Amino acid sequence: MAGEEATKKNGSRRRQSDITIQNITKLNTRLLTADVRPNCEASWNLRMGRILPWLVIWGSLGTELSDATEESRWHRNLHRATFVRNRQNETSKMCRLECNREESMLHFATCSKIRPFWDTIFLFLTSIGIPWPTNPTEAILFNLWDGDSLGPIEARATIRHAFSEVYRRFALVDLAKLNFDCTAAALSTLQSLRRAALRRAASVKKMHANRLYTHKPNVIPQEDAAKYPGLITMATDGSYTISDILEQAIINLKTKLTAETLQRATLAKLKRRRPKRHP
Ligand SMILES: [Zn+2]
Repeated sequence: MAGEEATKKNGSRRRQSDITIQNITKLNTRLLTADVRPNCEASWNLRMGRILPWLVIWGSLGTELSDATEESRWHRNLHRATFVRNRQNETSKMCRLECNREESMLHFATCSKIRPFWDTIFLFLTSIGIPWPTNPTEAILFNLWDGDSLGPIEARATIRHAFSEVYRRFALVDLAKLNFDCTAAALSTLQSLRRAALRRAASVKKMHANRLYTHKPNVIPQEDAAKYPGLITMATDGSYTISDILEQAIINLKTKLTAETLQRATLAKLKRRRPKRHP
């Protein structure tokens, strides 16, 4: 076939039986896409004012702690396929959270109304030993923590959960006329991260249990057990507990949310009671 070598990688000659639908598709795709980079890369580079390390970014897709929904939203973000107002003409292009800026994909990371949410997430990460990122916008949109380097795996997983939660609540502002609450969003993010850490630990434990009566090693390798020390501690026998820092962060956010809700209700009550001024 045109564009294909006469011999395989192992040196043996190609045969007619090698012409399968799978190989033809693979070759045609390669001819079309070789040296062609996705358009989104150039668009993001332009907006960030530098050439981003795309091989590193694409290579970071998929973490053990993010599920299909989170990865799909993350994928759409990288591909610049997230729905935002400046991509349509039917309604205003201004941010739905009323910060008086245009709503773009970059705006997810820069909106002043969402900033307290991201600050809470970065603060939580510092509490588990991950430094504040050099450029928070790049950390939010690409998981880059310091120049061209990715954040640690716990940071990447946390940001994917956070991004997914921001997107969900952001959509609900338009679709269901719900307010965007930074504290509630941070609480949901950490609760979702906690569930993911428990799912991962349960699956590692199951693998360990399945190996008990086989010739395979029946203890969990230390690197697997100690993979997410800031989120969950796991012993090599498969037992696990959520980290005190994560549990405490969830409790603190619940307390804060209750206090803020109460304060809002009290203010609303006072407003209703305030006597009307007569001219
Ligand atoms: Zn905004």
